[in-house]
Amino acid sequence: MKILSVNAGSSSLKFQAYEMPEEKVLISGVFERIGIDNSFYTIKINGEKIKKEAILKNHEDAVKILTEELINYKVVNDLKEIEGVGHRVVHGGDKYKDSVIIDEEVLKTVEELSDLAPLHNPANLIGIRAFMKEIPEAKQIGCFDTAFHQTMDEERFLYAVPNEWYTKYGVRKYGFHGMSHKYVSNRVMEILDEKFCNIIVCHLGNGGSISAVRDGKCVDTTMGFTPNAGIVMGSRSGDIDYSIIPYIMKKTGKTIEEIDSILNKQSGMLGISEISSDFRDIEAKISEKDKKAIMAHYLFVNSVVSYIAKYYVELGGVDAIAFTAGVGENSPHVRNMVIKRLACLGIKLDKEKNEEMRFGKEGVITKDVSSVPCYVIPTNEELMIAEDTYRLITK
Ligand code: ADP
Repeated sequence: MKILSVNAGSSSLKFQAYEMPEEKVLISGVFERIGIDNSFYTIKINGEKIKKEAILKNHEDAVKILTEELINYKVVNDLKEIEGVGHRVVHGGDKYKDSVIIDEEVLKTVEELSDLAPLHNPANLIGIRAFMKEIPEAKQIGCFDTAFHQTMDEERFLYAVPNEWYTKYGVRKYGFHGMSHKYVSNRVMEILDEKFCNIIVCHLGNGGSISAVRDGKCVDTTMGFTPNAGIVMGSRSGDIDYSIIPYIMKKTGKTIEEIDSILNKQSGMLGISEISSDFRDIEAKISEKDKKAIMAHYLFVNSVVSYIAKYYVELGGVDAIAFTAGVGENSPHVRNMVIKRLACLGIKLDKEKNEEMRFGKEGVITKDVSSVPCYVIPTNEELMIAEDTYRLITK
């Protein structure tokens, strides 16, 4: 059975086609600069990468070209062969605890939830509608970033604010990156060959979040009401004292929207290093002993270590810690700094293995004598979406 896995952003659309249940990737690609000038798309097939320019006025243009290319490249002979399209949807609120088959009611709910994710849900909806029009025979599935975290208890997801904020306005911790946390924790459970175990998943990318997972279910996670909470990120502040906001507004005369944008786009590693939000640029400056770059790394590592420590206790000990996403998968430097700080828990890094494990490699990076094994697990949110789509349409 052929299935598409789709991630639609406001100006981009990433896709991957799978043969399921074999999980074979048939073709993948990304449409960029949709609705902007100079739009183009790239396709990867049979180990080849092809870039083409195209007029992409909107997502429908992109989906139309995508379906034509699926036939051109003989991925399918007829679009009817695509039985399911799985869509990444950022916010499912507390309504969706799992992926769902999309119907009118789901569309309405996702639209209503746009209040909570104004940058993401509307873009996800545009993507879904474009596929509904272009491949109407296929079942459309919504896979929510928040769903995996819906197993958190009230004592973990409530904030200590007036109860009415939660009951009337939905103010609570939701958590994000769910497809990644689910994929990585499942993969670690496979490696350990154990269904009942405690795992800490560190998704360290440009955006980052950590989750505490017991027996495959999320117990706690660092992102909150929005993806701005938790650890220090590329350009997002992570946790701060909220009183800083009115204080800086008074001092600078900036509006709440301006402050919100600064905390999202000019803070985190970029704010502290004044170099870049990209860890590669910052690491390059660390080798030149740049003090701000070094300080940014310390702040980042501190925030990661403090959450690992918190979740270690919350879970009552752990069976494994996993690193994933851009930084987690590719930066031995960051992993070394984090794991060194966990020595008091008996966790011991294997330096050679740590150096080896990058650019898509999966494996252990701690010594055999380490009290807890640490793994690098390249995340695969697209595959998780394809698996959920396959599961729901064959149910
Ligand atoms: P997102 O999906 O949140 O945009 P990614 O998971 O793709 O983020 O991660 C992007 C981050 O990964 C960037 O900050 C980038 O610097 C970092 N990264 C990628 N490769 C490396 C590397 N070799 N060393 C250090 N950091 C890396």
